[in-house]
Amino acid sequence: MTHWQHPHFHAYFPGGNSYPSMLGELLTAGLGSISFTWIASPVMTELETVMIDWVGRMMDLPKELLPYTEGGTGGGVIQGSSSECTLVCMFAARTKTITALKETHPGEDDCILLSKLVAYFSEEAHSSVEKAANISFVKRRILPTDDKFSLRGETLREAVEKDIASGMVPFFVCATMGTTGSAAVDNIEEIGQVCAEKDLWLHVDGAYAGNALICPEYRYLLKGFQNVMSFNYNPIKWMHVGLDCSVMWVRNKYYLVDALSINRIYYMEDEQEKHLLDYRNWTVPLSRRFRSLKLWCVIRTYGVEGLQEYIRSHVALAKMLESWVRADDRFEVVGTVEFGLVCFRLKGENNLTEFLLQRINQSGKAHMVPASLKGKYVIRFTPANWYYSEEFTKKTWDIITDFAEVVLRKHREATQRFQKLLAKYKDHARARHESASGGDVFEEEEDHSWNGVLRKLGYRTKLSDSCGAPARRQSSLEEVPEDSTLDDVQQNEAGSSSYRIKRALRSESSFRSLSLYGDESTRPVKQPSETLFS
Ligand code: PLP
Repeated sequence: MTHWQHPHFHAYFPGGNSYPSMLGELLTAGLGSISFTWIASPVMTELETVMIDWVGRMMDLPKELLPYTEGGTGGGVIQGSSSECTLVCMFAARTKTITALKETHPGEDDCILLSKLVAYFSEEAHSSVEKAANISFVKRRILPTDDKFSLRGETLREAVEKDIASGMVPFFVCATMGTTGSAAVDNIEEIGQVCAEKDLWLHVDGAYAGNALICPEYRYLLKGFQNVMSFNYNPIKWMHVGLDCSVMWVRNKYYLVDALSINRIYYMEDEQEKHLLDYRNWTVPLSRRFRSLKLWCVIRTYGVEGLQEYIRSHVALAKMLESWVRADDRFEVVGTVEFGLVCFRLKGENNLTEFLLQRINQSGKAHMVPASLKGKYVIRFTPANWYYSEEFTKKTWDIITDFAEVVLRKHREATQRFQKLLAKYKDHARARHESASGGDVFEEEEDHSWNGVLRKLGYRTKLSDSCGAPARRQSSLEEVPEDSTLDDVQQNEAGSSSYRIKRALRSESSFRSLSLYGDESTRPVKQPSETLFS
């Protein structure tokens, strides 16, 4: 079992949980009711609308997105996941655009019109956005981000204008507020201007960082929201609510209902206004859980201030870890720490950080996942639960630095061994080639290339496992005895059976101690065992 509520679980984003949320789930299970139309369960529908209004006002969202705005077309719904929010919004935008195209191109086949549609999002957008484009069967442009991993308006404009010039129909943009890789925020103000000019549906995926909007100091993130057509965030990430719950708002509920409503007599939908509150027409599934009840329990228990405090405490702890990383010149921070996520790495080649993460995860003392930010391999750290504290953060830093010390020492030793082998190889090669070429067998740049020299020495630089699939790890000179002859080195290719056995033992130890909840990981951190590296 991987315990997401373990104090040293720092992977992905937090998976929310709390006693009030559990109570809400218990009551929901006990009531055993199902909502899909207003008439099937008026209380479930109405509480959902009230919660959407509460949270929307807690975040100070534009009133055009809120359900009770007089004369407005806005409103919201609670979906099961952020992925569903993006999908239904993209689907509504697709229906809206195809309906409009049919007016200007009467008689044109839907499939031809569909083949023209293009959706836009950044290289840092979550995989669920690309999945939504796959399901919606639309073309997509995955756009580059700036040096802060943020999508900018000009990049979008260029791509959109290029597509329009070639007869395509841009229709949808997904901007991210808090990317999964580094919690970067796309420039919603600039993107919104382009969307307004070109009549594109702008959806904002705020799955994680959207939670921060309940704190007034993060309201600057709402810049440009006047052009946002839909927005969602996951209270299950950072607001004490257990899975599943993703709150979504739309500027015009009629577009959603037009795209998703299919009527049958047994739904008893004949009054227009009630029909609009039949949430089955806002979602993919028909039958729906009473998710608003746990949200109600959580908000009533903690209050807005309690929830703000929770978010601020994680931001403070992340910034604390950031300051330690910055103060240690072996490490660097990548990206900006604006929320509760720190992306850091060991300076130097990516595989140092990759080895470091492997060691940490295999020890079971903590669990983190990587990200690749413009080719830099980073470790993502996030405080992930309700009782994560300064003391735990200190322990996390000890775990990181203890393993870093070992990785760097191993690296130094391997480099020294490498230098010796290189010298040995050069002598050997020089003797062999002297008469033939009269020069050095190494090109200037190869002298400094780890992979180049390993290849010369007969190592495969990307290992293959026994089935020939590429392995995740590069060969290491750690396994080469210092006094080996060149012939030994060449035979000691890392695909040998002894190497494979070592690898199997390593992966078996993975997460073993993380499963010992509150035991192994809360003990004082010891120097990592040398056996991890054998
Ligand atoms: N969007 C972002 C930015 C995310 O980080 C994630 C998941 O972490 C998702 C979407 C997908 O969320 P869900 O599991 O609710 O579909």
